[in-house]
Amino acid sequence: MNIAVIGTGYVGLVTGVCFADVGNNVLCIDNDPEKLAMLRSGEIPIYEPGLEILFERSVKDGRLTFSDSLAEAVKYAEIIFLALPTPPMEDGSADLQYVLKVAGEIAELMTDYRVIVNKSTVPVGTADKVRELMASKTNVAFDVVSNPEFLREGAAVEDFMKPERVVVGTRSDRVKKIMDTLYKPFVMSGNPVIYMDERSSELTKYAANSFLATKISFMNEIAQLCERVGADVDNVRRGIGSDTRIGKRFLFAGVGYGGSCFPKDVQALHFTSQEYNYPFRILKAVMDVNALQKELIIEKIISLFGNDLSGKTFALWGIAFKPATDDIREAPSLVIMKRLMELGAKVVAFDPEAMKAFQKYYPNMNVNLADSMYQTLDGADALVIVTEWNEFRTPDFAKIKSLLKNPVIFDGRNIYEVNDVAEQGFYYASIGRKTIDGRK
Ligand code: NAD
Repeated sequence: MNIAVIGTGYVGLVTGVCFADVGNNVLCIDNDPEKLAMLRSGEIPIYEPGLEILFERSVKDGRLTFSDSLAEAVKYAEIIFLALPTPPMEDGSADLQYVLKVAGEIAELMTDYRVIVNKSTVPVGTADKVRELMASKTNVAFDVVSNPEFLREGAAVEDFMKPERVVVGTRSDRVKKIMDTLYKPFVMSGNPVIYMDERSSELTKYAANSFLATKISFMNEIAQLCERVGADVDNVRRGIGSDTRIGKRFLFAGVGYGGSCFPKDVQALHFTSQEYNYPFRILKAVMDVNALQKELIIEKIISLFGNDLSGKTFALWGIAFKPATDDIREAPSLVIMKRLMELGAKVVAFDPEAMKAFQKYYPNMNVNLADSMYQTLDGADALVIVTEWNEFRTPDFAKIKSLLKNPVIFDGRNIYEVNDVAEQGFYYASIGRKTIDGRK
């Protein structure tokens, strides 16, 4: 099949590469000249494990090509995927300008039947809105489909290649046949392609992300309680996670959720519920808890060093919103850095993959970037762990101790055992567990 993907970001590129890998011809469109130049020269603009090898193979075999011409895409493919940004507006609602603009242009360019498949996360009713807009611009037949994407950055290729489910919102039998053919190679093991109406499909994506965010905020509240009652959130997590009704995943307390999806999707669903005069109380609490959670590590720092951090330097491990990605959108690290600097501190940070993105998007943030995790520590007053990259998990504690001015670690991701770190002579504060001062 010939497929076009409009928007070649985290979702669009993975979608394009994976569809090409199973034998389709894919034309990826983007209007960012810098991104396009990189892709055309064989370079991947994002960090995503496992993507490169598939990308190279499909490009080499001529199944994967790139362009900035929407006209070319509309001519090339019967099936056109939209993987465009839907960022939050001031009021929390999703900004549909990119999706609507491209859909309108497609309608004007179409001369034959086309299927517009929306992979962007969009509010309930968007498929209807897109359909209406396109119908006002063309008499050519078309279908609009909702096909929300559930891939996780950092495991995007695996998630796309072996999805636990594919959700498709359509009532057209013609589209169902096309989508069945398209997704067959990805669901060979028997995972379902779940068909439903467009509105339910659109809501499914928001419900999934909001539910996961709720799990995180719930555990963060349990962690707050653990600290007050003298319990350990890791024990509680193990205790409840082994109940299959609850499940082991998304139960980790930490510095709050971030990224390009959870914060904006929870906000957007909350906005939708208000639009329909329903006060979605849980979502409000999920957002409030998350905002507070990002401050928690700062409170712990203040409780040891006081309110005035001038003259102090903090070494930060991790900038990306989670490990295995270079994505820093809505990363808790940004709030933590900002707050530390507001209190007068200096920040030296290291991230294995996200420093380029940080330099690009925050050129004026007065943070020094180090070449290695250990280089951040040289003369710093404390280490603050913000992202749980694997390489931070078993460090050389003796080296950390020798480099830091004070043997102090604030761990926002609970990646070490409390007693182990304390026994090695550190002051160690984490989330939802006891703080131990192991300094002699
Ligand atoms: P992104 O910002 O990485 O990519 C969007 C791309 O679209 C960019 O490369 C941008 O240059 C391009 N673009 C913008 N306007 C364009 C236009 N008029 N023509 C051509 N290209 C244009 O965003 P993303 O993270 O890939 O997210 C895309 C959508 O998928 C969003 O709605 C998001 O909520 C949803 N989503 C994201 C993830 C994720 O993990 N990132 C997961 C599931 C769903």
